[in-house]
Amino acid sequence: MELLDKIVICGGTHGNELTGVYLAKKHGWFLANPEAVAVCRRYIDTDLNRCFALSQLRVESGELRVENLRAKVINTMLGGKGTEAAPDLILDIHNTTANMGVTLILNQSDTELINICAHIAKEFEDVRIYLQPEKRDESPYLGTIAKRDVCIEAGPQPHGTLDAKLFFKVERIVFRFLELAEAWNKGNLPKINGIETFKETRSIDYPRDSEGNIIAMIHPALQGRDFCELKAGMPIFMGLDGKEILWEGETCYPAFINEAAYYEKGIAMSLTERAN
Ligand SMILES: [Zn+2]
Repeated sequence: MELLDKIVICGGTHGNELTGVYLAKKHGWFLANPEAVAVCRRYIDTDLNRCFALSQLRVESGELRVENLRAKVINTMLGGKGTEAAPDLILDIHNTTANMGVTLILNQSDTELINICAHIAKEFEDVRIYLQPEKRDESPYLGTIAKRDVCIEAGPQPHGTLDAKLFFKVERIVFRFLELAEAWNKGNLPKINGIETFKETRSIDYPRDSEGNIIAMIHPALQGRDFCELKAGMPIFMGLDGKEILWEGETCYPAFINEAAYYEKGIAMSLTERAN
């Protein structure tokens, strides 16, 4: 891995995820979507954090939405995705309404970067490493502008609100991450063995009727149980009529359970497999 010299810390990629918004304001970090921040909404026209695939950044003509234009501006400001001038690392701070503690999301299987994250997971309570392997060029996330990136998800926190405990925890984690990156640059970072990771396999939607209306909710027994084992026969949804729906699939570890921003994406939760 090349040295982690040029590091960009972002908040406000989603305008109503206030941990990152206010950490960025406090420390002068990069505020990714100020227009959405100003109205405290996730986005104005479309999800900024789905606008950074190279094919999207290259679109020149037609009517571009606010966030597509913003993505092009950010890409230029930060050096250009896929180029030598791109940052070595982006840390992008997000919130989730799901009970995920602090989850460090990587969309590359980069053992060195995973090792830095493992130090964070070891030093802080309730921190997990989440792998979401993707082709970097076509991955739509802001962090993929950089050569490497970690998305820091902190929850549970309702969007549009602040939570002091999470705010200071994420702040400490970011500064610790910078120290660990520096230690790694100097060749002083010990390797951690047996790192626990959660690798996303797929996402599942809510049960819906033929018109697309949701007809069941997250089961109360599953609510808040992110990263806990889900096995066939366990309750997963509860119908609007109160009927229990049991899981019939593979043994897995769900995350992003009942994330508010994912109702529009047709995601009730993402399934992961645990490894260590
Ligand atoms: Zn977000």
